[in-house]
Amino acid sequence: MKLILLGKPLSGKGTQATSLAKHFHIPLVSLGDILRAEIAKKSVKGKKIASSMHAGKLVPESIILSLLREYFSRKSFLLDGFPRRISQAKILDSFQKIDLVIDISCPDTLILQRLHARKICSGCGSIYGITMPPKRKDICDRCKGILVQREDDTPAILHTRLQVYKKEAKKLIAYYKKKGIYFAVDGKLPAQEVCKRIIQRIETIK
Ligand code: AMP
Repeated sequence: MKLILLGKPLSGKGTQATSLAKHFHIPLVSLGDILRAEIAKKSVKGKKIASSMHAGKLVPESIILSLLREYFSRKSFLLDGFPRRISQAKILDSFQKIDLVIDISCPDTLILQRLHARKICSGCGSIYGITMPPKRKDICDRCKGILVQREDDTPAILHTRLQVYKKEAKKLIAYYKKKGIYFAVDGKLPAQEVCKRIIQRIETIK
């Protein structure tokens, strides 16, 4: 099964991606995580990635493709963060037939509310937020790692990320609607309900 997750920053994509990958036993490919891992290596590529990412802009296509190409030929995957623009969607189509594109739609007001509460575990990558706070402040429930804010989770950078998303997403949504593989889910609902609805939809294609 080949699935794509679309959604604004802080729409709940990462949370859903983790749950869905577990539920269906599909390898999760999170481009944001792959890019952050490259930044952590402090490589030349990592420095270039950081300069785009920390400005809220898209990372150049050549870098994205050099990191993702190995995943394109896999039998099944859940892609979180790719494609983010129509040119990327077309490249992916030249490798694979996608089964379903899931769009977690969420109003900007909710995104902004979530911004201040979102924390990521520096150890295992678990995501915490308004409805999923950690039991102990800034400590991960799962691995006891320290919770941190993502460097690009500031109001100014989020503003740019949202603008970039909206400009590109319109075209992506139209592209996948035309192919008949687009499914939108209401991201305002509690995370478990969002997950349930997506699972129900995915089961119709199995
Ligand atoms: P995310 O973790 O999915 O919110 O992505 C964080 C940042 O990584 C984005 O704001 C972009 O700077 C970069 N990024 C993620 N996916 C892509 C992509 N498909 N193309 C270009 N840049 C990307």
